[in-house]
Amino acid sequence: MNDELKGELSSLHRSSFLLHRFLSLCSLCPLWQTKSRMIKIYSAHWLLPVSSPQIKDGAVAVEGSRIVAVGETADLVARFPGAAREEFGEAAILPGLVNCHSHVELTAMRGYLEDVEGDFFAWLMKLTQARLQRMTADDLRVSATWGAVEAARAGVTTLADASNDGEACAHALGDVGLRGVVHQEAIHPDPNRAPDELAKLKDKLARLRPLETELVRVGVSPHSPYSVSVPLLESVADLAARERLPLTIHAAESEAEDLLIREGRGIFADGLALRGIEWRAPKVSPIRYLKQLGLLNPYTLLAHCVRADDEDIEAIRESGAAVAHCPKSNAKLGHGRAPYEKFLRLRLGLGSDSVASNNTCDLFEEARFALLLARSATRLERMGELDAARAVHDATLGGALALGFETCGSLEEGKQADLAVVRLDAPHQTPAHDAARALVFSSSGRDVELTVVAGREIYRGGRVLSVDEERLRARVREIKGKL
Ligand SMILES: [Zn+2]
Repeated sequence: MNDELKGELSSLHRSSFLLHRFLSLCSLCPLWQTKSRMIKIYSAHWLLPVSSPQIKDGAVAVEGSRIVAVGETADLVARFPGAAREEFGEAAILPGLVNCHSHVELTAMRGYLEDVEGDFFAWLMKLTQARLQRMTADDLRVSATWGAVEAARAGVTTLADASNDGEACAHALGDVGLRGVVHQEAIHPDPNRAPDELAKLKDKLARLRPLETELVRVGVSPHSPYSVSVPLLESVADLAARERLPLTIHAAESEAEDLLIREGRGIFADGLALRGIEWRAPKVSPIRYLKQLGLLNPYTLLAHCVRADDEDIEAIRESGAAVAHCPKSNAKLGHGRAPYEKFLRLRLGLGSDSVASNNTCDLFEEARFALLLARSATRLERMGELDAARAVHDATLGGALALGFETCGSLEEGKQADLAVVRLDAPHQTPAHDAARALVFSSSGRDVELTVVAGREIYRGGRVLSVDEERLRARVREIKGKL
């Protein structure tokens, strides 16, 4: 080594030593400690961790994408003296809401299908034709993004979506900054088409996989027992098991589906006959049919289950499969009421379904519907179980666990910083005695003030921060014109 190089190395060593000394001295200063760690404390009159009891005058401290502490505001402020602070006053801080069943690509169809709501077959046909024939790829992406915007505004931080155009959904979640699972749909009732449809699904998954991120995962969705043939159902289930993909399926949703599977008749049976597709009814309930085909397991999320009987519910519980309860969509389409009070021992989340059948993505409304419909149908002695705290659990932690997302859904040290702040001081909420009850019985998604996903604020005070809402609104109106 020549002398010049030696000199340079020793001066480099000296300056690196000095820098190191400077940094270690700075790190002793509390101001530096907190500043360098960039901790932010959000506090409000109520904090609902969900995994533990409500905290009066509570706070959550966030560092980067994680929660570093949860507790009384005074304690957290003392513990992190240099942290940035925001006090929301008469408001509740809760984990971000988890919507376990949506179709954001259909958001531009809000209100569009209401004239055929009395006929589920016609409803599905009108939806499918509009999506395939009148909407471009960009229309679907705009529609999906508008759905993600609505979710973010309503305090939803995680979406489990089923999409025909999974790419549109993945871009929408990424652009708005939501967490979620994009379940790529497969749909065709003709068994002869199963190999082609499976190949199509694999192609779509190959295009989706590069869009996976820390927040967005890919899954599959064989559409339903009435719209997917036996070989396609089996091969998608097999693909999901081999590639460890989460799977969601509409199940036991309508009377028409029940008639087709149990008795081989009704509008879906007529539809298959018209298309020359042979159908032999398995003559069991839709849930037991799915069990026979190997679709009930801990990686399956069953949407709806309106027509699940006690034996079905026990089969779901034994299998470890989860349920996405969508009470508003079921009621609006006249499918009936799923027995929420019997689902309480299952892995259970709430879903909005598409806004074409709902008409809003609002988990507080779903929680309210779930409770009120169940309360109206059960005995008074079960009222205690059907409490607002339970519904808040299902809208947050229950949903996260139903999706296998162990790292979010509750406000706990070490978990992902997914949270929502909801104002509780509007005339329709005042006075509020208990935060969970005020949220479920008096509030809506429109009372949300702030939505944070993995520590990033994506909605605040009337504005989604990640996308241009005005451009999207104009485009959604344009799409409405095309439909
Ligand atoms: Zn659905």
